[in-house]
Amino acid sequence: MIPAGFDYEVAESVDHALELLRTKEDAKLLAGGHSLIPLMKLRLARPGTLVDIGRLTDLSGVRDGGDHLAIGAMTRHHDLNNDPLAKEHCPLIAYAAGLVGDPQVRHRGTIGGSLAHGDPASDLPTIVLALDAVIVARGAGGERTIDARDFFNGFFDTALAEDEVITEIRVPKVGAAGWSYLKFRQRALDWATVGVAAVVGASNGSIEGARIAFTNMGQTPLRASATEAALAGAPRDAVAAAAEKADEGTDPPSDTWATADFRRHLARVLTARAVEEALSR
Ligand SMILES: Cc1cc2nc3c(=O)[nH]c(=O)nc-3n(C[C@H](O)[C@H](O)[C@H](O)COP(=O)(O)OP(=O)(O)OC[C@H]3O[C@@H](n4cnc5c(N)ncnc54)[C@H](O)[C@@H]3O)c2cc1C
Repeated sequence: MIPAGFDYEVAESVDHALELLRTKEDAKLLAGGHSLIPLMKLRLARPGTLVDIGRLTDLSGVRDGGDHLAIGAMTRHHDLNNDPLAKEHCPLIAYAAGLVGDPQVRHRGTIGGSLAHGDPASDLPTIVLALDAVIVARGAGGERTIDARDFFNGFFDTALAEDEVITEIRVPKVGAAGWSYLKFRQRALDWATVGVAAVVGASNGSIEGARIAFTNMGQTPLRASATEAALAGAPRDAVAAAAEKADEGTDPPSDTWATADFRRHLARVLTARAVEEALSR
């Protein structure tokens, strides 16, 4: 439980962090440390240098960007959970941030760290996928934007390059759409056995633009494409039948908490409940 030796540097700015990533051998960013440090203690990660971006206050907080919210990568889960702009314009992400771990985890962990870590059991990757968010990253070549759909490549694998820093997450405002995030979990652990995020609009009794995403139903967060297609323009009483398709295209793990079959069952049940809850908001 003791990490291998490492050097430690404090980044004074994003540019400084980028320079340290470029010049130090096997350098890794340290944000809240609540995913990286456990990996280091298990010696599953052995960075040569930790580049601490914890003091980059300009990467923290939520800004109104017009049609979207710009959430700084260093925004901690607790602050996102309590942010007035997030609560008003994107209550789904504020609510889900309040379900991450326990208060200690929420006071240290950051949204940028959660996305960069790429754990399919994490909550916020599912939320940004359901919201069609955009991730802003800076590297030696400048800034680029990555759609959430293209960000999660595989198990703990993202589209980020080794020398890139996530600076911001742009989340479209949800407007009049209803939302829900249902997380089935072992209370002792807090991680989702399965989670379902839903953003759903309705007009003249028909469902419009349903966006549904899963936590822990595969190697990455996943969209429930078959259910989304079945709900497009459908009447409200189509929800139960559409939710029966929820596990199509998923590949859930079996572990000590649940078999893959039980996760498939949870995905179908929670999808129906999440869509109904979103429609009632
Ligand atoms: C006991 C416990 C319970 C938890 N429960 C949950 C839970 O229920 N749900 C959940 O979703 N999560 C849970 N977590 C994980 C928690 O949310 C982490 O804080 C989060 O996943 C990682 O954020 P961090 O800021 O701590 O990142 P760190 O651990 O500092 O970094 C994680 C990875 O991201 C990289 N990184 C960090 N910031 C950036 C950036 N800006 N740009 C590029 N790369 C970056 C780091 O180099 C590292 O590879 C739990 C953690 C613990 C310890």
